[in-house]
Amino acid sequence: MTDFAGLKAVVTGGASGIGLAAASLLAARGAEVIVFDLKPDVPAPLRGIAADVSDDASVRDAVSAAALQLGGIDILINNAGIGAQGTVAGNDDDEWHRVLDVNVVGIARVTRATLPYLRRSSAAAIVNTCSIAATAGLPNRALYSASKGAVLALTMAMAADHVREGIRVNCVNPGTADTPWVGRLLDVATDPAAERAALEARQPMGRLVTASEVAAAIAYLASPLAGSTTGTALAVDGGMQNLRLPAA
Ligand code: NAD
Repeated sequence: MTDFAGLKAVVTGGASGIGLAAASLLAARGAEVIVFDLKPDVPAPLRGIAADVSDDASVRDAVSAAALQLGGIDILINNAGIGAQGTVAGNDDDEWHRVLDVNVVGIARVTRATLPYLRRSSAAAIVNTCSIAATAGLPNRALYSASKGAVLALTMAMAADHVREGIRVNCVNPGTADTPWVGRLLDVATDPAAERAALEARQPMGRLVTASEVAAAIAYLASPLAGSTTGTALAVDGGMQNLRLPAA
């Protein structure tokens, strides 16, 4: 697909799921990759730095350490995120602040600390992991959807602010992706196998999106191949967002 040789990348939330798949793909294509995560246990050649995107001092320390280790940063994948279930009445203020602090302010924090390095790169790109929840009107996901709606808006605003600096900013909108995140949701169901089957049946393709399919979209948007693409959201959702199928 592309060649990331010589490019240095940071992937937040890169110790699991979509982030780990994206970090591994960038590394396989020749990038030097550092993962930021709460517990950054990652396989070689990935390197991990412990960082909490909801803590500004932790983010600034991690970005400085990454830039020092890598000798610069060309690519930032803002992928760390947490979920929340419930209607608008179902989450209290603390929960709203906690989720928005990770999913939205976390992107602002990591980007703010990384921008000085991206400005020095001739191949600078940011990819944010958003979600079809940003626009789909998913039931029982009010807070999570609001957080991802903000990620979508932030992506477009960042793209406008930094386009003349040569920094491209895009996002991916995964549908339901088969990661440990979804595994955790299924594990608490009364019948996880039946719940998984029902989840798959609701997908237009009859299966969940894979983490490597989302990673491929992230890698494309981060790569010089997407050199004229900024301010876009690429859905990787098995048709969930746009297809209207008759009920089975
Ligand atoms: P995951 O739980 O497998 O991985 C998320 C990673 O983020 C974990 O390693 C976790 O430790 C890390 N993380 C969480 N809070 C953090 C913090 N404060 N600081 C640093 N790291 C932190 O989940 P995933 O499914 O791979 O999700 C990755 C992204 O994809 C998230 O932004 C999520 O909203 C988005 N997404 C997932 C799906 C899905 O169905 N799995 C769908 C749409 C969007």
